[in-house]
Amino acid sequence: MENVILSNGVQMPIVGYGVYQIIDPKVCEEAVLSALEAGYRSIDTAQMYQNEAAIGRAIKRSGIPREELFITTKVWYSNAGEEKAMQSIEGSLRKLQLDYVDLLLVHQPFNDYYGIYRALEKSYRTGKARAIGVSNFYPDRFLDLVKHADIKPMVNQLETHVFNQQLDTQEIFEKYGTQVESWGPLAQGRHNFFEHPVLTEIGENYDKSVSQVALRYLVQRGIVVIPKTVRKERMKENIDIFDFKLSEEEMSTIKSLDKKQTNKPPHWDPDRVIDTLGL
Ligand code: NAP
Repeated sequence: MENVILSNGVQMPIVGYGVYQIIDPKVCEEAVLSALEAGYRSIDTAQMYQNEAAIGRAIKRSGIPREELFITTKVWYSNAGEEKAMQSIEGSLRKLQLDYVDLLLVHQPFNDYYGIYRALEKSYRTGKARAIGVSNFYPDRFLDLVKHADIKPMVNQLETHVFNQQLDTQEIFEKYGTQVESWGPLAQGRHNFFEHPVLTEIGENYDKSVSQVALRYLVQRGIVVIPKTVRKERMKENIDIFDFKLSEEEMSTIKSLDKKQTNKPPHWDPDRVIDTLGL
């Protein structure tokens, strides 16, 4: 596994395992255990996914030394404000059965996310998080936070895939030492992603699948990826991307697929945001 080095020197695996929408606790626990067996060491969860406790149990059962793992969670915006965010971080650590997480993110720029970010800074200073950052912060919110925060975000986790590549924004974030991490690296299977003719053809050159080509493309751009699957054979497939390299021509062919096409997840639904914020 290759690592990226965050601005504070912490190493983060460039491929991790995402657990969004694996809600059934038993299914999630077994899936995380299988992912760890398949070689993943980085797990991406969030308070909103409601599966932190299942992940905690899988980590325990795996017997893998804590220092070999890289665990990310995110503070949800219903826990906004410094004090409430701090309490929610303690709750996440309890559920995960951990003394610290490796990466703590503000999930979305809604509600008092400055308060959330201060709680993240406090957690970083007291050793409850080895690195901190944000998610879904596009340049406007990101630059505003960079201007006012004491500690610059080490990671920004954004929707990033072949149809929405974040080419310009990656440059902006990296200028401030912020590592780009892709959510939905397989475009969540939308827009006929797994049958895409260009990606299929490139894959044939290396005996690799569409998924492997798309993940390799992001990794070659220095972007961290966290594909999700509940199927063991796909877990192995998605991590098996270090024995081939896309040529410059293939990289620019894939670059041309960018449509800045977003798959906003259901929790962005304005009615749900209005409900959560009590507006
Ligand atoms: P994704 O990883 O792009 O795609 C997951 C979908 O692809 C699932 O339907 C999965 O089905 C399928 N799949 C996975 N590998 C495959 C393969 N090799 N061949 C064929 N199908 C395959 O989407 P995502 O789960 O939304 O994103 C990944 C992670 O990013 C999440 O799990 C979460 O940790 C994070 N995320 C963060 C945010 C945020 O707001 N920060 C938002 C969304 C996601 P099966 O499971 O049936 O295999």
